[in-house]
Amino acid sequence: GLQRHFPVLGGPLGITRVGAVRAVDGVDLTVMRGETLGLVGESGCGKSTLGRLLIRLLDPTAGSIHLEGRDLSSAAGAELRALRRRFQMIFQDPFGSLNPRMTVDELVTEPLRLAGAPRAQRRARALELLAMVGLSAEHARRYAHQFSGGQRQRIGIARALALEPALIVCDEPVSALDVSIQAQVVNLLRDIQRDHGLTYLFVSHDLRVVRHIADRVAVMYLGRIVELADKRSLYAAPAHPYTRALLAAAPVLDPGRERRKSPPRGEIPSAMHPPPGCAFHPRCPMAAARCREERPLLRAVGARMVACHFADADGQLSGQ
Ligand code: SF4
Ligand code: MG
Repeated sequence: GLQRHFPVLGGPLGITRVGAVRAVDGVDLTVMRGETLGLVGESGCGKSTLGRLLIRLLDPTAGSIHLEGRDLSSAAGAELRALRRRFQMIFQDPFGSLNPRMTVDELVTEPLRLAGAPRAQRRARALELLAMVGLSAEHARRYAHQFSGGQRQRIGIARALALEPALIVCDEPVSALDVSIQAQVVNLLRDIQRDHGLTYLFVSHDLRVVRHIADRVAVMYLGRIVELADKRSLYAAPAHPYTRALLAAAPVLDPGRERRKSPPRGEIPSAMHPPPGCAFHPRCPMAAARCREERPLLRAVGARMVACHFADADGQLSGQ
């Protein structure tokens, strides 16, 4: 209900940059306190960019970002640093940017050190944090390179928890791990969330992983949200043709029947220069003349939000 409303991102939010950073255009998204909002789409759709915008690792060129009623968009200096401590990020490769000469206890409590916490307090907190992710005191004085990929991701999670963040953006946190380890790490994230009332934005290209952890799912295509629904209805009856194509392309979970289906047909156009009308029309099996000219807005269709001219309240496509 409204009590749980946690308006982190108010829109429409935009970013347009040439070069490595892709466009995010007019996204309006609210993350509820205590939920996991899954954000899915193909590589290059802007989902990582959106995650970084949300926690002000990138600056929006338009729109606003709110946390508990405070506008973060204009925060700068000490205020921005304080706000950033309330947001953490878990990366695909947790140690890509971390100091290999730091021991695990130093790594997980570095955010506390930067915030001015004394050494004795950090030592004690390191053991608490490691216990939260299933590691023990004997791991504390070792170096990250001595650990497996799954253990390193546990260390990355412990570090993200150090400052008791309001929101954690998990950006493909299990994509680099073996499938057998992925479930362990996803379950750990879920348990920690339940025990500590955390809020996640879970960014992934992998619909199977998102299905295990998300409460709601936002599907992104070329810098825009095209469908937003609770998990159950999204997986049971995807309304947007792009969501349908993504689900149809996802490999079957049953390992005995595992087979890769083909991804949505056609090349992915650039988010910097999306096609006119509905950006999905060159790849959409249901595209009609109207789709090439008129851009569908994200609108309420039953209990979900869909950006397709032909979505109706039964989750069906009609009017063609
Ligand atoms: Fe397909 Fe048209 Fe719907 Fe876009 S608006 S998803 S092109 S049917
Ligand atoms: Mg990415």
